[in-house]
Amino acid sequence: MKERVLSGMRPTGALHLGHYHGALKNWVRLQSEMDCFYFVADWHALTTHYENREVIEKNVYEMVIDWLAAGLDPNACTIFLQSRIPEHAELFTLLAMGTPLGWLERVPTYKDQQEKLKDKDLATYGFLGYPLLQAADILIYKAKHVPVGEDQASHVELTREAARRFNHLYGREINAEEKVQASLSKLPKDSVKRFEKARKAYQETGDAKAMEGALGYIATAPELDEQDRERLGGYFKGTGKVILTEPHALYTQASKLPGLDGAKMSKSYNNSIAIREDRATLEHKVKRMPTDPARQKRTDVGDPDKCPVWQFHLVYSDEGQRQWVSQGCKTAGIGCLDCKQPIIEAILREQQPMLERAEPYITNPKIVRDIVDAGTEKARITARETMQDVRSAMGLNY
Ligand code: SF4
Repeated sequence: MKERVLSGMRPTGALHLGHYHGALKNWVRLQSEMDCFYFVADWHALTTHYENREVIEKNVYEMVIDWLAAGLDPNACTIFLQSRIPEHAELFTLLAMGTPLGWLERVPTYKDQQEKLKDKDLATYGFLGYPLLQAADILIYKAKHVPVGEDQASHVELTREAARRFNHLYGREINAEEKVQASLSKLPKDSVKRFEKARKAYQETGDAKAMEGALGYIATAPELDEQDRERLGGYFKGTGKVILTEPHALYTQASKLPGLDGAKMSKSYNNSIAIREDRATLEHKVKRMPTDPARQKRTDVGDPDKCPVWQFHLVYSDEGQRQWVSQGCKTAGIGCLDCKQPIIEAILREQQPMLERAEPYITNPKIVRDIVDAGTEKARITARETMQDVRSAMGLNY
C-alpha cells in the first residue's frame, strides 16, 4: 500500500508558473510514488472571495485543466472537488467543538493575510476557521503526508494538534479501564509487572527505550489479538485509540520562481506568466521585465544579483548559460534583450507539452467534469468511512 498524500489549491484564477514550479511539478512527481489525493479547495476560495461567487465555477474547471496540462494523470492520482463532499464540513464542525480559539488566532497567516488583503473584510468566522477546515480536509482522508512550503508548516502543526486532541477526547473506549485489565490478564504476571513499570517510566520521564521494549513485546505476544494490542498501545502512551491520524509535513525542494518584477509571483500583483500563456503575450511580458536599474544604457555594466531576470536563469538555465549571463552582464558584453531571449525560449519549450495536453480538455470540457466526478466519488468512500469512525467515537451513531 502506498502512503497517502493530500494537497489542494484554491480556484482563484488561471494558474501561473509560480504555482507550477512551487507546487504542481512536485505533485506530478509524487503521483507515481504515493497515493495522491488532490482537491479543488473551492470552500477555501470563499473564505477570502466570498463576494465573487460567479467566478468560482469557471475557475474550478480552468484550474483542473491547468493541473492536467501540467501532467497530473487521473489514472495515477485522485482529483476531486471539496464542496461536493459535505463530510469535510461535518468533520470541521465536530473538530471546532473542542478547538481552542487561541490555536486559530495564533496561526501566522491569519494576521499576515488580513494585513495583505486590506481591501477585503476578513474579520469573519470563516476566515479565522479556515486552518481548521484545512485540518478536516487532511484528517478525513487519513493522509500521512502533506506537501507544504515553510509558510504553511503551522497549518500542518494545527492539524496534528487537532488530531491529538480528538484522539485524546474520544479515543477512550467505554469501560476502558476494565477492558485494559481484561487484555492484561491474558499475559503472564511477570510480563504485566514489567509492562506497568515501563509505562510508568515512559509517562513520567518520556523513556523512549522503555516504550520501544514494551510495545515490541505486546506486538508479538501470542496471547493477544489485534484489539488487545491497539488498546494496550494506547494505554501505554496515554493516547487511547487512534481515530484520526496525525499527518507529517512533506518538505520538498521546489525551485521558487519569482514574479516578473522580482516579488512573489501573483496574479493580483500583475507580475505573473500563466501556465498556458500565448506566445505573443509571453514574449511581451519577458521583454518588458525590469532589469538591474544600473543598466540604463547598453554600455552600462550590471549585476545579475540585482536583476529579476537572473532569478529566471537560476530556474531555467544550465551552468554554462548562467556563466554567459553573469560575464556578459558584468562587462556589458550582452544587452538585456539578449539575456532575456533564452528565458523566452525555455518557457516556450516548457509550455509546449502543457498546451498540447490541455487541448482535448478545452475542446471537450465534459472530459474534465467526468474526471472530477470520478475522483470525487472515489474520495467520498474514504471520507464516509472516516466519518463513521468519528461519529461512533463521539457517540453520534444513534
Ligand atoms: S544582462 Fe541580464 S542579468 Fe544583467 S541586467 Fe540585463 S537582464 Fe539583468
